[in-house]
Amino acid sequence: MVDFTAIRAQFPILDQQIHGHPLVYLDSAATSQKPQCVIDAESEFYRTINAGVHRGAHELAARSTMAFEDARAKVARLVGANAEEGNEEIVVTAGATAGLNLLATAFGNASLGRGGEAAKRFALKPGDEIVVSKAEHHSVLLPFQELAYRTGATLKWFDLTEDGRIRSDTADEVITEHTKVVAITHVGNTTGAITDIAPIIRRAHEVGAIFILDACQSVPHLKVDFHALDVDFAAWSAHKMYGPTGVGFLYGRRELLEALPPANFGGSMVELAWMDQPAQYMVPPARFEAGTQPVAQVVAAGVAAEWMMNVGLENIEAHERTIAAELLKMGDIDGVRILGPRENVNRIGTVAFDVAGVHPHDVGQFIDAQGIAIRVGHHCAQPVHRHFGLYASNRASSGVYNSVDDAHALVEAVAKVRPFFG
Ligand code: PLP
Repeated sequence: MVDFTAIRAQFPILDQQIHGHPLVYLDSAATSQKPQCVIDAESEFYRTINAGVHRGAHELAARSTMAFEDARAKVARLVGANAEEGNEEIVVTAGATAGLNLLATAFGNASLGRGGEAAKRFALKPGDEIVVSKAEHHSVLLPFQELAYRTGATLKWFDLTEDGRIRSDTADEVITEHTKVVAITHVGNTTGAITDIAPIIRRAHEVGAIFILDACQSVPHLKVDFHALDVDFAAWSAHKMYGPTGVGFLYGRRELLEALPPANFGGSMVELAWMDQPAQYMVPPARFEAGTQPVAQVVAAGVAAEWMMNVGLENIEAHERTIAAELLKMGDIDGVRILGPRENVNRIGTVAFDVAGVHPHDVGQFIDAQGIAIRVGHHCAQPVHRHFGLYASNRASSGVYNSVDDAHALVEAVAKVRPFFG
């Protein structure tokens, strides 16, 4: 049995009053809070071994390189990826957005003929198709929409069910022989719905397309194994999985990473550079990690990954399901509509809602006055809001540190919104 009260106590930020009330933090889909061990890891790095990685002959550089690569291995273990030297499948990025843009840029470079014969599998041309869904965060939609503009490919998308699930049952029609890239979210950042990705991945591979998973909202909440899922690439951010801001990870099947041309150019990613000849780039992951790395943040993200594994991914998932059950009770309040699945099945504790006749910003302020933090706006997912006939909504989202009491406090506060605003 995991003591979730003791787990919550590891998050110092939660021990404070906001507007005279104990803080209830229900905005983990935006960013999670950090346990003390993660906060300590960053400062400990700066106090003891701070140095650039993969260069320098001195002892500190060796120690920081070791800590950096050790963190990569921990993150790989969290998501079922390879970590042995020479076979690494985890690329350090600045976050999910950076990882998805890296892929779109690299595919664009391949479309220009960069990367030679091996990279042709990523190349796009007019007539080819890129498939996304209406549930995507703008960080998936926009890079791949831009890639379509740049290459002349056509952007297509999965429609959603009434309650906002991606219509995986239409995979055979949406994905065709012309489809080259499919980029889909694992968990909707607005609906909290877990996508039934198996039929989409199966169909994508049947037609020889590359499948990219946006794992931003799944890795922090579910046990995820990219090999078992058979995804080709996946991107997510450390700051949503109890790690620091400014860093994220891109998983790529080793064979694909080896074939992919670089997207960012500069130091630490090149074997040989000349004035009058093309450069020779390093093997992955270095090929995709140009510039000085956010070493302290990566080391702390490794601590976050290890911390999650120690708590147990199944335990995290089960605990948050109890929070989701309580949050979903908002749907029983007169005038409150849940934007996503109402049943607590194949979903996480991210629950967006609309309060009839009250603007989300007013709802957010009313809730905040009671010390409860939720998100309001379109959550960087405008198409899914249009699907629900809205421009914006309110969103409560759980983390492992939340209690059922937290969720109950929100339900009680939301019940008072309409009476208050008349
Ligand atoms: N994808 C999803 C589903 C998200 O929820 C987010 C963050 O809100 C992102 C992508 C982008 O993540 P980041 O802003 O950390 O790059």
